[in-house]
Amino acid sequence: MSVNSKIYEGKAKILYKTENPEILLADFKDDATAFNAQKRGTIAGKGNINCSISSKLFQELEAQGIKTHFIDNPAPNQMRVRAVKILPIEVVVRNIAAGSLCKQTGLELGTILGQPLVEFYYKNDELGDPLLTRDRLLLLELATAEQVESITHLALQINELLGGFFQRCDLTLVDFKLEFGVDSQQQLLLADEISPDTCRLWDMASTDTNRRVMDKDRFRQDLGNVEDAYQEVLQRVLKAVENQK
Ligand code: UDP
Repeated sequence: MSVNSKIYEGKAKILYKTENPEILLADFKDDATAFNAQKRGTIAGKGNINCSISSKLFQELEAQGIKTHFIDNPAPNQMRVRAVKILPIEVVVRNIAAGSLCKQTGLELGTILGQPLVEFYYKNDELGDPLLTRDRLLLLELATAEQVESITHLALQINELLGGFFQRCDLTLVDFKLEFGVDSQQQLLLADEISPDTCRLWDMASTDTNRRVMDKDRFRQDLGNVEDAYQEVLQRVLKAVENQK
């Protein structure tokens, strides 16, 4: 296999092999999709922005003892990552009701949850990424019981750390999605990305339900100023990282 050959192209990233089988290169794209890829578009600069935000957040989490796949950034829209086998599960953590939780339960948008909710969705486009019960997850052997326990614990810990970090950015972490993978030593690592594509972030300075939106919902709901919101999140993240040095 030649060096840097493409091994996978997803909706927002391309993954390349490197000369080291333990290391992959993730190339973040400007492409954006929503509603199981029924809505498609591009967000100018998103590749660079999401790669930078994700990298900073992975480094923050690593500093707090969370193991991630992040290695370094050879270019602004590129991340070298540890090669992992991604578990076919989307792990969603929610602090405030939004999106599919409102649609499926009737909870009003913005309802503050008494405690964070951890949910598992089946990463399967053909089935439309359905919500899983723990038993269905185990039935389908998408992860072991031990992995489910570790992931739940990690997801709650990451929620605490990210929630605190975003608070310092004057952003409310409403909900977010995580993906985990297993490396060649069977270590569980936080993988994929953490960005305005995968988090709902509300500007604390605004109570307006449209203006406060600083994430992909601007694209999903055609709220406009998508690039500006992503750029603003990056600037606040960089400032928060700088301030704690
Ligand atoms: N999410 C994601 N990828 C997905 C589905 C959801 O990154 O394929 C994120 C989404 O951005 C939000 C959280 O997970 O921050 C919860 O999403 P929800 O279940 O409400 O789905 P949505 O209505 O956004 O499709």
